[in-house]
Amino acid sequence: MKIAMIASEAIPFAKTGGLADVLGTLSTALEPLGHHITLILPAYRCTLRSDFPLRQLPFKLSVALADRTEDATVLQTVIGKRIDVYLIRADRYFDREFLYGTAVEDYPDNAERFTFFNRAALEILRAYPVDVVHAHDWQAALAIVFLKTQGARYPEIAAAKTLLTIHNLGFQGLFEQSKWQLLNLDDSFFAPQYLEFYGRINFLKGGLVFADKLTTVSPAYAQEIMTPEQGFGLEDVVRQRADDLIGILNGVDYNQWNPWADPYLTPHHGVNNRSVKRNSKTHLRQMLDLPDRSATPVIAMISRLTSQKGFDLVTTIFDRLMQREVQFALLGSGEPQFEEFFRTAATRYPGRVAVRIGFDERLAHRIEAGADLFLMPSLYEPCGLNQMYSLKYGTIPIVRAVGGLKDTVEDYDPATESGTGFVFEAYDAQALLDAIDRGLAAFHDKPAWSALRRRAMAMDFSWDRSAQAYSNLYQQLLS
Ligand code: ADP
Repeated sequence: MKIAMIASEAIPFAKTGGLADVLGTLSTALEPLGHHITLILPAYRCTLRSDFPLRQLPFKLSVALADRTEDATVLQTVIGKRIDVYLIRADRYFDREFLYGTAVEDYPDNAERFTFFNRAALEILRAYPVDVVHAHDWQAALAIVFLKTQGARYPEIAAAKTLLTIHNLGFQGLFEQSKWQLLNLDDSFFAPQYLEFYGRINFLKGGLVFADKLTTVSPAYAQEIMTPEQGFGLEDVVRQRADDLIGILNGVDYNQWNPWADPYLTPHHGVNNRSVKRNSKTHLRQMLDLPDRSATPVIAMISRLTSQKGFDLVTTIFDRLMQREVQFALLGSGEPQFEEFFRTAATRYPGRVAVRIGFDERLAHRIEAGADLFLMPSLYEPCGLNQMYSLKYGTIPIVRAVGGLKDTVEDYDPATESGTGFVFEAYDAQALLDAIDRGLAAFHDKPAWSALRRRAMAMDFSWDRSAQAYSNLYQQLLS
């Protein structure tokens, strides 16, 4: 089958979060199942400046946008065995420092940038037709809308089946009605049963309405987005599509995240052996200027610093957490108030709190390898990757029972010697602190802790199973 993935980020080309991991890895995992995968992305500055061998294709794309046409060139490269990657190059839109905007605000022309991107993606597919168009998140949802409502413009692929994957319903691509003319859609589609959302344009909603099938990134999240708590106002739209929605858990790229062969680590983890964890911890502490206190556990977080990730709870309990015998390491960037909070915390608790604001792949691996406990108290979590990485590195996750966290971490029960982490239910600061306390107690019970780490490290969330589920869905779409 020929499948086109349309998305706004994918490793190794551009990444701000889990979406990129999924795109890069799912594509490579689908290839051995016999599919021919095409990946279509914007050519951002970070990609243009990298050293990928990019070949410019000998034609220009002309894309209708409002009442004019905009041109783009196409850069082509290959990943995996034969995954064709097409990067749409339009420097006025994509040659920028960030993908979507700064930490403070989105780029003001995002409606235009991503309308353009979707039209351009479909133009590429006219030249290289596929059986299935698989679009990801709001940034690619319009491709489905255009294909389904304006098939005559894209005759070569008008019969293609469409699949939309929701990686995070919290991001919908909401824009003022004044941008509507950019889309070149009939005005009848600016209506509540289509793309209108309380007087504004909602790109994701268009995809939810028009896609043949919908997926999201964990079974629990598939249920949660049908509720008012997690539907972000789209719960009714999702519920109407319930028969066409399935949750497929993301996998982990164990080539990248393998404690036994992690390119970012020296020495390698080896086996589930306390001394190896101790060595990794010593390295981590050296990197972070934390004193080497052998009986003190390191609690870590690697995350976008946003409310979604539960930072309201973490900041609420922080001083009480620091009354415990712990060291705390955080890597992340995001909302200024959280960046400020943690910078201040590092100065208030010298030698106990290490904070690195920024994006640092190597340090992320070092933290996974060297920490003892990993915090993910998310308000909502479509899938979450770091808890799965943590399990493999024997870094025991403390998570809230929500979305993919609930699907991947089982609460520890000392009575039955079962479970792989510490799970709490209510979005509540005390509940988080109680879970941390249970984690700290277990940490000091050496035999129980060893057994817990062994169970965690034995968990397997490799992509094979998820890729097979997507493959089955593509088959179903075409049958
Ligand atoms: P989300 O996509 O909501 O941000 P996920 O847990 O699905 O959350 O994926 C986040 C990905 O981004 C993980 O691979 C994580 O390691 C990585 N990541 C997040 N923040 C940073 C950072 N500051 N430095 C390095 N990697 C990061």
